[in-house]
Amino acid sequence: MKRLLFSSDLLDLTVSRLCEQLIENYSDFSDTVLLGIQPRGTLFAERIHKRLETRLNKKIPFGKLDVTFYRDDFRRRDEPLKANMTEVPFVIEDKKVILIDDVLYTGRTISAAMSAMAAFGRPQKVDLMVLIDRKYTRNLPIAPNYTGKSVNTILSENIEVEWTQEGAKENKIWLIS
Ligand code: 5GP
Ligand code: MG
Repeated sequence: MKRLLFSSDLLDLTVSRLCEQLIENYSDFSDTVLLGIQPRGTLFAERIHKRLETRLNKKIPFGKLDVTFYRDDFRRRDEPLKANMTEVPFVIEDKKVILIDDVLYTGRTISAAMSAMAAFGRPQKVDLMVLIDRKYTRNLPIAPNYTGKSVNTILSENIEVEWTQEGAKENKIWLIS
């Protein structure tokens, strides 16, 4: 069974709403950086980043974080993991970091992201934004500060995200069970 969680239009509205919420709390984004988690969190993060820069008419530092080698389960896999590129072209020492991912599930990716971030300095504070928060599935005490949508998923369910790089038109997000 496939249930549509986000049409392209709703996704667009949600991106706008999340940006307004960020602006409410970060106002001019001084000392603030955005970090998307590879691979798919960065696609969502790019949408947020682009919208914010347009909305505020200013540049906001944007990086991509790969957490593959920081995962606590990375030695326990049968298949070798393919790592993605980490691109953090700034220091995050004393910066306010907004971590951005597509789906929050057990929380292990975000835990790994916080370890990975330590290589780039000690942030002043870290907030977490996710497009979809899968409720009641956490293995670690991690919660998002900004959420596109909270979804009650059972183990047999999965979120399918159809991203197109550019052009909002064909983005759709489904709940699969
Ligand atoms: P966690 O580490 O919290 O268990 O899982 C979060 C990571 O796995 C995210 O980076 C996300 O991309 C991916 N993920 C977990 N569950 C889903 C899901 O249902 N759908 C999609 N598309 N990605 C998921
Ligand atoms: Mg991911």
